[in-house]
Amino acid sequence: MKILGTGGAGFIGSAVVREIINNTNDNVINIDKLTYAGNLESLTSVDNSDRYTFEKVDICDRAKLDRVFKEHQPDVVMHLAAESHVDRSITGPATFIETNIIGTYTLLESAREYWNTLDSEKKNTFRFHHISTDEVYGDLVHPDEAPDDIELPMFLETTSYAPSSPYSSSKAASDHLVRAWLRTYGLPTIVTNCSNNYGPYHFPEKLIPLVILNAIAGKELPIYGNGDQIRDWLYVEDHARALYKVLTKGKVGETYNIGGHNEKKNIEVVKEICKILDNLLPKATKYEDQITFVSDRPGHDRRYAIDSSKIQKELGWTPNETFESGLAKTVEWYLNNQTWCKNVKDGSYQGERLGL
Ligand code: NAD
Repeated sequence: MKILGTGGAGFIGSAVVREIINNTNDNVINIDKLTYAGNLESLTSVDNSDRYTFEKVDICDRAKLDRVFKEHQPDVVMHLAAESHVDRSITGPATFIETNIIGTYTLLESAREYWNTLDSEKKNTFRFHHISTDEVYGDLVHPDEAPDDIELPMFLETTSYAPSSPYSSSKAASDHLVRAWLRTYGLPTIVTNCSNNYGPYHFPEKLIPLVILNAIAGKELPIYGNGDQIRDWLYVEDHARALYKVLTKGKVGETYNIGGHNEKKNIEVVKEICKILDNLLPKATKYEDQITFVSDRPGHDRRYAIDSSKIQKELGWTPNETFESGLAKTVEWYLNNQTWCKNVKDGSYQGERLGL
């Protein structure tokens, strides 16, 4: 199978590419604009495979997309390219509208034109798998606010959309476009909505890598508000396996929620990282002493939690990592991959590779 993947140089995309090259016989054509978040150095373990191809392409560029579809004749599309950082979407929403909405629309149109040229068998087996987030559902009641006698709700595939940030609303818009292209044009689409991912190769602006790297550099560990926001964490390689399962076994038109049943307050996550570091890299003071509380993010969602029973029951996917095992692996990975962290922050590896 030939998989056209978008955003394969990003955090989750690179895990998907590594999963496909290492654990299947499929081919991947990775198209990525290589924004600040896209790093080819995350793919050095697989980029010499003859089943892997990279092209620097912006998903808003229709002409380039049409050429890629024509030249590579993919069997399926996995669409991960996006602007993904909520804080950046608050200070500069324009690129989120551009990539997440216009880019998804442009990719859908290019895919549809290509799909129309396929014979009926290939048309039937074609998939446009759109990778999205649980943030489209907005937030859930927090245990601190809920009466004691209610069972705390979780996001289901049928939960109404109520996004809070420019990021999540742009992703919600893209999910709607994808479903409309199935309903209106018959393009065989599938949508997945996943909870917060963590793991190796995560750009060091997101909570977990930022805290690990600041901690070992002796810097402050900034926490929004009082740190009681709850996220449901999933190890990125478990997400990559789930995505491949949905791509190959999922039903057209369905939505699958993916999550790890690991609801943690941000403050608990940061303290857990500090504890792991106290063991792995002891110093005179506790890492926890570096925690500082900063003003909360505007519109900050209080709680996310995914009910992933549908993908578990229907497709037989379960996560391999517990939060404890995944977090320990992640902290060790960052301690052992300081060069990757330096290179992705200053872009030096990218520059070398692209001859800049
Ligand atoms: P990321 O920011 O690490 O990577 C995004 C990738 O997309 C980068 O390689 C970037 O260069 C590329 N890209 C950006 N704009 C592009 C454009 N116009 N054309 C082509 N490529 C472009 O993001 P991520 O964390 O890997 O997330 C991947 C997908 O999964 C996103 O769609 C995101 O919404 C979704 N998601 C992320 C999480 C999470 O916790 N990180 C959770 C659920 C869903």
